[in-house]
Amino acid sequence: MSEIDQDRQIGPVTVGEIRGQAEALSDEVIALRRAFHRNPELGMEEFETAATVAAFLRALGIEVTESVATTGVIGLLRGAQDGPTVALRADMDALPMDEDTGVEYASCVQGKMHSCGHDAHTACLMGTAKALVELTDCGRTLKGNVKFLFQPAEEGPGGAEPMLAEGAFEDPVVDAVFGLHVSVEHAVGTVGSRSGVITAAADEARIEIIGSGGHGAHPHKSVDSVIVAAQALTALQTIVSREVSPADAAVITVGRIEGGYRNNIIAPNVKMETTIRSLSDETRDMLQDRIEGILSGITGAMRADYRLDYQRGYPPLENDREMVDLFFDTASVLLGPSAVLDIPEPSMGAEDFAYFARAVPGCFFRLGVHNAEKGLGVYPNHNPKFDIDEGGLVTGVTVMTGVALAYLSRES
Ligand SMILES: [Zn+2]
Ligand SMILES: [Zn+2]
Repeated sequence: MSEIDQDRQIGPVTVGEIRGQAEALSDEVIALRRAFHRNPELGMEEFETAATVAAFLRALGIEVTESVATTGVIGLLRGAQDGPTVALRADMDALPMDEDTGVEYASCVQGKMHSCGHDAHTACLMGTAKALVELTDCGRTLKGNVKFLFQPAEEGPGGAEPMLAEGAFEDPVVDAVFGLHVSVEHAVGTVGSRSGVITAAADEARIEIIGSGGHGAHPHKSVDSVIVAAQALTALQTIVSREVSPADAAVITVGRIEGGYRNNIIAPNVKMETTIRSLSDETRDMLQDRIEGILSGITGAMRADYRLDYQRGYPPLENDREMVDLFFDTASVLLGPSAVLDIPEPSMGAEDFAYFARAVPGCFFRLGVHNAEKGLGVYPNHNPKFDIDEGGLVTGVTVMTGVALAYLSRES
């Protein structure tokens, strides 16, 4: 604790005041998180969650816009003085799976579970809204505005792009954006981020190798799609190993392959499903181009044909250096430098926040929820036993509140 100067000023308030406010909201934020956890809703169906969020923000005196991109909610805390606008974002959706944690606040809805922690993100951002209202006398001591973005469908099909298309970053125009994600890789009480790319682009390709069927005893009278698919599959793996720079990173995973009828029938076609990950627009374009090139070349050489359905998902999420510096500085002042981690490597997972961070300078950070002693935050995201150490929620509220105030009070 000695590494924290409680009297240090962040905008109109002190470190001690921010920490105290977040701490005071702890029980309420945990209760909100548990209520969302009990009642998970899938992407674009977050109607009750959104209604709860909207009512909560309105009760605080925050301007609310509902039904943005179906279920998105935008809150606007207007400062009494002119200044920039900073956006803070949470995602609200759950996943289509059964929960197996056995906790008393476990999902009450069969086949739906908050196994990625978006319940925690929503609760954190609600707590942050309340903290900012309390700390700034509902905006009266605020220079500029804070926009709260509660987005649908992060797990797909994505809510960020449609929210932007509906003007989420206009009126007032947003100048910077911050978002967080719970992390079981990081100890409760800590936060972490990195400059540059932090999550990957996630694309998918459905491939069909088209041969021509026949009798297994007379292969020369057919075009065996299984053999062509085998060649293509192997050659696809050379893109990452031989064509992507060893200093870069990329993934081509063929997660599913299907074709044929039985042992003595030459399969007329084979289908493959792949996920493709990359960390830059350049590598992303290159992978798409080379996948098509390999399929075209191999099927052409082997008298077969192919069909390629290439779907682009979320782009790489690139953190802005200045915003990351602001996050590191602010979090270090609030939590102490030892609780703030510089994450060495990007994740090959993907994040819808990428679209927000493409529109304006942004910083996406990890919120530690791992606690080995308590056995919390030990299962990975999307696992039926996924749970978090809720002690991380106060840290989330503290840092989100702090970065908003720090951004609005920075000299530039
Ligand atoms: Zn997830
Ligand atoms: Zn998630």
